[in-house]
Amino acid sequence: KKKVPDNYSKEAVPSYDWFQTDGSITVVIYTKQKDMNSELVIADLQERKLRGELIVKDYSYLLHLVQVSEKVGKVEFVLKKKEILSWKKLGQPLESHNSFVKRTERGLYYRKCRLLSKTNVSHDTQLFCLALPLGTHLLVPVGHHVYLRQTITGTEIVKPYTPVPSFLVSTFKNPCHDDQLHIFFIIKIYPSGLFTPVLDALQIGEYISVSNPEGNFMKSQMEDVEDLFLLAGGTGFTPMVKLLSYALTSSNSLRAVKFMFFNKTEDDILWRNQLEQLALNDARFEVQFVLSEPKKGWKGKEGKISSTLLSQFVKRSKCDSKVLICICGPPPFTEQGIQFLQDLGYSSKEIHCFTA
Ligand code: FAD
Ligand code: NAD
Repeated sequence: KKKVPDNYSKEAVPSYDWFQTDGSITVVIYTKQKDMNSELVIADLQERKLRGELIVKDYSYLLHLVQVSEKVGKVEFVLKKKEILSWKKLGQPLESHNSFVKRTERGLYYRKCRLLSKTNVSHDTQLFCLALPLGTHLLVPVGHHVYLRQTITGTEIVKPYTPVPSFLVSTFKNPCHDDQLHIFFIIKIYPSGLFTPVLDALQIGEYISVSNPEGNFMKSQMEDVEDLFLLAGGTGFTPMVKLLSYALTSSNSLRAVKFMFFNKTEDDILWRNQLEQLALNDARFEVQFVLSEPKKGWKGKEGKISSTLLSQFVKRSKCDSKVLICICGPPPFTEQGIQFLQDLGYSSKEIHCFTA
């Protein structure tokens, strides 16, 4: 019997059906929602087990069966048959099959991904490229993160990371890498940290578990935004990358994107060349680097996040322009930034901070 939330009418709960041809099985899910898109569908086909999760607003619908060898509210999983045999049933239900529950009750699902490459981004930060299993469909929405999990001497360790595209903008895109088969992370290694030394030691070809996405950012926050301000400290850069590409390629209303990037030294600035190149290529984009521990000869801005720096930087291009300010970095950086912005008169709706 289908598990249904108390406040949901039976008719509004997603349902599924399946049919077959000689060569394929199609599982159709009627979500009863108009605005489905592929980021709301996460599918894993592993060891004859199909796990399909659909996100329907705050709820999660799960198909979970074993056996197996963007439309209006209808999602189809098409499975290729290994043998031309007529199937009598779709499969044996596994745990939580055909259930529709609050997303927060679903629990994170992990799949093992293989490390394909590690490339230095700076002296202490690397770009990790992981291969998703062939039976996985997983797109991480803008502003969302996943969890990486590894068992270290018998203890399971889990930490959040924000996937990035492998390059900042599409003009730099390397077509063989930015597909749906890989997932990229920019990760700073802390030698005395708990988890990142384990990632540093992970060898090419070894596996690490990657969870389904989570996050508090909604694309609707970008609707009609004219001025987008991004404030990042160190690896707080990572959620800005997809957001930047999304804003510059998908928004019709956007007039300006201004990015203030706080780092200790020049050597710590991630993807500086790409950011400067983007500013040259797109007149709407401007980047400023601020260093808290500059070496001799630095001619740019200095210091930590402050009211003075922000009051000069975060300015509406028109007196009534719709603004979104996104902030991410070390917790004290983010907390102080939010306070300064509120003191400058920005409302909580105009400020977004990325959190786990
Ligand atoms: P930790 O063990 O947490 O230590 C980190 C540093 O703090 C080390 O220098 C350590 O020596 C020091 N430290 C630890 N405990 C103490 C203490 N008690 N007193 C003083 N110092 C201490 N990071 C990225 O690099 N890339 C990302 O894309 C990314 N995305 C994130 C997304 C979200 C939503 C969040 C919340 C965090 C994200 N992070 C990201 C940070 C990441 O989750 C980890 O916190 C980070 O990798 C450090 O993990 P660690 O276990 O190696 O270090
Ligand atoms: P870092 O120590 O190299 O510092 C970078 C800059 O942040 C500094 O130059 C300074 O300007 C500012 N800063 C640091 N500490 C500050 C403080 N106490 N007060 C005011 N400003 C301060 O940064 P890092 O090691 O790259 O750390 C990045 C942080 O971002 C981590 O804490 C990580 O957890 C967080 N992060 C969060 C997310 C998310 O989505 N929530 C994503 C990525 C990273």
